[in-house]
Order: sequence, then C-alpha cells, then structure tokens
Amino acid sequence: MEYVAILVIIFVAFYFFVHQRYLKQDTLKDSAYKKKGPLLNSKESAFYNALMAAVGQQGVVMSKVTMTKVITPKTTDKKPWFIANNRIAKSHFDFVVCDPRSLEVRVAIELDDGTPLNKGKVERQKLLMHVCKSAGIPLIGTTVKHSYQVGKLRRLLAAHIDLIEADKEVRFCKRCGSPMNIKTAAQGDYKGRRFFTCSRQPHCTYTENYNVVFDEE
Ligand SMILES: [Zn+2]
Repeated sequence: MEYVAILVIIFVAFYFFVHQRYLKQDTLKDSAYKKKGPLLNSKESAFYNALMAAVGQQGVVMSKVTMTKVITPKTTDKKPWFIANNRIAKSHFDFVVCDPRSLEVRVAIELDDGTPLNKGKVERQKLLMHVCKSAGIPLIGTTVKHSYQVGKLRRLLAAHIDLIEADKEVRFCKRCGSPMNIKTAAQGDYKGRRFFTCSRQPHCTYTENYNVVFDEE
C-alpha cells in the first residue's frame, strides 16, 4: 500500500511541476520582447547603400532574406523534401537584387565581412554555392571594400542584370558609326539577355554587350 501511495504522490508532484513549468506559460502576455537594434550593422549598411546606388532603378535590393522564401526543394517526395528544406531552413541570403516589377530574385550577393575562415563560414559558403547553382540563381561574392566602389559593383552586377535604361540608351556602331538596335538573344547561354546590333545588318555585323558598364569614377 505504501508503495502505491508514494507512486501516486510522485505522479501528482510531476503533474504539477509540468503544469507550472510548461503549460501555464502559453499565454502571449507572459512573453515580453525588446528590440534587437538595427537590422544591418555598420559595414552591412554601408554596403547596402552602395548596392542601392549601383542598382539604381533597375532592381530592388533586399537584405537578410530567408532562403526558404526564395527557393524550395525540387522533389515532391515527402521525406527528401523535408531533409532538403531542413538544410536551408535557418539560412538567409545577405542581399538579393530583385526585378523591380515582378520582385523575382535575379541575383544573390554574399558579403564577406573579412573575418577569418572558420568551420561555420566554410559550411555557409558551401551551402550558398550549392543552392544557387542548383536553383540557377547567380551568386556574387563581394567584400566590404566594395562599399566604396559603386563602379566595381555595377560591373559585377552587369553580368547578371540589366543596369541600363533601354529608352535612354543610344549607341552608335564602333565599326561604321550607324545607330545600333537592341535585340534579345533567342537561344544559347545568353538567352533572354539583351544586346546591341548594328542597324546596317547584315552589311555590318558589329554587336555589343548590352551591359557594358563604364566606371563613373
Ligand atoms: Zn555598323
């Protein structure tokens, strides 16, 4: 009898302990919060401003975007989907540049803060390179020093996004001096990207990369 009584007392004590500790705390007002401070540290915000200047009206810059908002596992099988999603669940992109109309992510940018390589940093870089390659998102790695080099940033971005306003861009053929037309590549590696062709085609075959970005400095 005594043995049973002791067991009962233990169970009751355990129930009250759990109830006090875990179950009673589920009202919202028991959880208080404080602000964490600026979203970006000083280096990150310097870079953010440079990136905004480099992109101009041709894109929308967002920072610290959760990976799962941008990419999702290709598979539809439950278990592999869950595993693949778990790998990216806690990670973010430092910066992304989106299409200004559709807000679709066009390029991801990883800012190297200059701290020495450690295991965590290497793992993050491996993950970033893998997911970007897998999902077909161009990835640009930059350093804090590019915060002061808007022209360099524009050159890095120009390989991936159109930084030129088509209606303001007038170019003349460097071979014959005729005005040039803008065309869109229909196939090949550069499919969908724009380029300039000479208006005297086929008599003049000169073409030019749409996104030649000249240093402002
Ligand atoms: Zn020409």
